[in-house]
Amino acid sequence: MSSFDHPLTTRFDESDCMLVFKDAKVPWEKVIVHDNPGLSRNIYIETAAHVISNHQSNVRFGAKLRFMLGVASLVTRFTGARDIPVVRETLGRLAAMEAGYQAMIDGQIEACQPFDNGFMVFNRRYLYAAIHWAMENHSQLIDIMRELMGGGHFQFPASIDVLEDPELRELFETFWTAGEFAAVDRMKLFKLAWDLVGSDHASRATSYEKFFVGPAFAVRNYNFINAPWDDLHAAVEGFMGTYGSGDGAAAPASGQGSG
Ligand SMILES: Cc1cc2nc3c(=O)[nH]c(=O)nc-3n(C[C@H](O)[C@H](O)[C@H](O)COP(=O)(O)OP(=O)(O)OC[C@H]3O[C@@H](n4cnc5c(N)ncnc54)[C@H](O)[C@@H]3O)c2cc1C
Repeated sequence: MSSFDHPLTTRFDESDCMLVFKDAKVPWEKVIVHDNPGLSRNIYIETAAHVISNHQSNVRFGAKLRFMLGVASLVTRFTGARDIPVVRETLGRLAAMEAGYQAMIDGQIEACQPFDNGFMVFNRRYLYAAIHWAMENHSQLIDIMRELMGGGHFQFPASIDVLEDPELRELFETFWTAGEFAAVDRMKLFKLAWDLVGSDHASRATSYEKFFVGPAFAVRNYNFINAPWDDLHAAVEGFMGTYGSGDGAAAPASGQGSG
């Protein structure tokens, strides 16, 4: 497979396989948890393991998002659509999403929490919120990129082998060059964008971003169990405690209307 035609697949695709161990012996000294569902579950909840490994996942997604934004912008430059107001607006929206996500990563560090023995760990709530954000938004982002690409990708030859035939090469370089953008450069960018959006590798990655931490209900459960419900309830109950059924109409607050 040519790295020009599949620049991401050739570097990053994983092949999935199932290993079946028959008559496997696990020595007792290698057993961490056995017949104990509660302890098995708490590896994820009460230790920092899940948080530490998934902060890495967030940083990985942040790098990918940044790359996606760069590709989206270059694609619109190559199609000539970049300065159309509605396309700029789409890029602005993507840029806001990307910046917001990077802030979620920085926030996990900025608002880190004390852990055992004087160590600190990334902020759990912000971490699980970022995982949830990525899980919910990746497919939509891919779809926006697909829309920005239009049908451009399908107008290119299937492979860069086209350059090996002198006659085809001349045709390609003549008719696929657009303004200041050479045919080969356009093809290179569109092949890269397609490997991010539409190839087998891209499709697997779309499932990956939905599921690698677990199904959606599990990701939401991590957000549920880490939310400070008592504090949230107390804030509302504290406010409700400032008035009663016999208070009648509330007096206007001083400074009302100033925001
Ligand atoms: C590309 C890819 C890479 C992966 N990499 C890894 C990895 O590196 N390490 C790893 O450990 N795992 C990995 N996973 C596995 C991942 O953790 C599981 O896919 C995920 O937990 C979902 O489980 P499942 O695939 O068995 O789906 P199922 O449990 O069959 O679920 C299918 C669908 O039904 C829904 N569903 C199922 N049960 C319920 C329920 N009780 N309530 C509501 N909805 C429900 C799910 O939300 C989901 O949409 C990967 C998955 C993919 C797709």
